[in-house]
Amino acid sequence: MTKKYHPETLSVRAGSELTEFGENSEALFLNSSFRFKSAGQAAARFGGTEPGNIYSRFTNPTVTMFQNKLAALEGAEQCVATSTGMSAILACVMALCGAGDHVVASRSIFGTSVQLFSNILARWGLQVTFVSLTNPAEWQAAVTPRTKLFFVETPSNPLTEVCDIQALADIAHKVGAHLVVDNCFCTPAIQKPLEIGADIVIHSATKYIDGQGRCLGGAVLGSKVLMEPVYGFLRTAGVTMSAFNAWVFLKGLETLHVRMDAHAKRALELATWLEKQSQVARVYYPGLSSHPQHKLAMQQQSNGGGIVSFEVKPKAGQTQQQAAWALIDATELISITANLGDAKSTITHPATTTHSRITPEARAEAGIKDNLVRIAVGLEHVDDLKADLRF
Ligand SMILES: *Cc1c(COP(=O)(O)O)cnc(C)c1O
Repeated sequence: MTKKYHPETLSVRAGSELTEFGENSEALFLNSSFRFKSAGQAAARFGGTEPGNIYSRFTNPTVTMFQNKLAALEGAEQCVATSTGMSAILACVMALCGAGDHVVASRSIFGTSVQLFSNILARWGLQVTFVSLTNPAEWQAAVTPRTKLFFVETPSNPLTEVCDIQALADIAHKVGAHLVVDNCFCTPAIQKPLEIGADIVIHSATKYIDGQGRCLGGAVLGSKVLMEPVYGFLRTAGVTMSAFNAWVFLKGLETLHVRMDAHAKRALELATWLEKQSQVARVYYPGLSSHPQHKLAMQQQSNGGGIVSFEVKPKAGQTQQQAAWALIDATELISITANLGDAKSTITHPATTTHSRITPEARAEAGIKDNLVRIAVGLEHVDDLKADLRF
């Protein structure tokens, strides 16, 4: 049913497979293994000559429904669901790169993704070069004969920088590499990277796909050819999404478009209001015309998304960090947490939390100042969010 229906309809309907009981909500299969009718059927399933479930480390009907729904939404041939967003990135790189291979990655990716590349995969012989998200010339210059992947998040966290997906895909494809987009901030409700040249999409389902801060999960999506080794890695290494979490995410995806529209509407209103506050030095939000890549963002995305960052002007005697912390500590409604993609709005000080493990120099180079505050705008009334920000 992937082609005929609008995305909103696919969110609600795609991927559903009903059992003989005719349930109208997808069933949760909480079982580790599956029975065969005979030794011959077991052999056929293991040999791959008969389709069907074997063992929930690599096939489970609830997880399969989630994979098929998300694949329909991203316009992907195949989706491999994983235990977390980080294991999605791990599975992707482990499946498509080997020792001595090279990855070009944006400097502005999720902090833990930087650690994965620099501290863990590097020990296994993977070479990584970090470059500017927004400068294609740096990507071109970083390419080596062993470059296998380009890795980006757009918009980036926390400064919401936007890259030209098509331009980076063109550079990658000329050298036989694949462009990977971590689409966590947008979800397919806002941006579909595979339609604009990317080869692989990564998700942390933990964020907007869940939408209510309950479960951890991830996904890798792309062509059958590229997903086959990713699935092979999952089957062997066991970075599997639990059936229960898949069931929660299936429910989350049903409301994805409605929620993302609501997050973005509130985020735009909050960002517009923040720009007018005398205590705010600068606002970062792709939906604002003041955003450096606003035009590009509006070509690639259906709206600016739900994440707004801004710099607080210190009052007399305050350091930059004190100004940011004072604003955060004065909130009564917004949750002080580093998570995002929740119905509950969250407020974060990136320099001392999500980006505290990178060096001050790297932080400065990335443009993350000590007075920067990030809000993942939830689904509360926006006037209550404004009232909670006491400058
Ligand atoms: C949270 C996040 C991840 C990691 O996802 P987990 O589910 O926490 O492992 C990866 N990329 C981005 C952009 C994220 O925000």
